[in-house]
Amino acid sequence: MMIIDIHMHADFLSEKKLNEIQEDKKISFVITNSVNLESCRRNLQISKIFPKIKLAAGLYPEENLKLSDFEKLERFILDNKNHIVALGEIGLDLHETKDNFETQKVIFIKQLELARKLKIPVIIHTRKAEKEVLDIIDKFKDLKVILHCFSGNFKLVRMGVGIGCYFSVPANITRSEHFQKMVKEVPRERILTETDSPYLSPFIGRENEPAFINESIKKISEMWSVSEDEVEKQIEKNFNSIFKE
Ligand SMILES: [Zn+2]
Repeated sequence: MMIIDIHMHADFLSEKKLNEIQEDKKISFVITNSVNLESCRRNLQISKIFPKIKLAAGLYPEENLKLSDFEKLERFILDNKNHIVALGEIGLDLHETKDNFETQKVIFIKQLELARKLKIPVIIHTRKAEKEVLDIIDKFKDLKVILHCFSGNFKLVRMGVGIGCYFSVPANITRSEHFQKMVKEVPRERILTETDSPYLSPFIGRENEPAFINESIKKISEMWSVSEDEVEKQIEKNFNSIFKE
């Protein structure tokens, strides 16, 4: 069993849990996603202590986002670019907040431009702004784009496929019809696995962790009617096409 977790938050997990991740031989690659500058700094430290945990740096589309945050982020990224494998999690959100949508857009586009300059992939969060995100990334076709936990409708899913996006499905696929349908409709070479740990656990009332991707592999093998081994190979291949080429 090889576990790849493309989207989690190591800075929200305990030191003990991070140790377990590092020691777990089944886990091959984990990307910790950042939400603001503080979280970038903390995740950078973590990625230096636990080499299996790789850093995605970025500004999450939250309420108090300011343009000056981007300048600080850019400096952080340029200073630490050898430690950064992707920009994430970045995007647009109209669910939590609507007031600063224009600022969200400006900062999102600036981060996409930075990823393009550094030639690294982006990991995107979006809620209730899926169409707006797709319209923007349509102009960044040269970028490798991963839509994390995409909950837009299937018309939008197909639009994302058309643009060339990858879709990372969370471990709660075990009880989500939306994600079960997604792994059937999206071409297999565009599917990735994630947990969003400590959130979105497949087990109600239990903190999520990368090891629970086991559960996704089982469910995807059911949906694809192939062995778990084949699912893992496909996910690894997809992962390599983004991060190893
Ligand atoms: Zn997240």
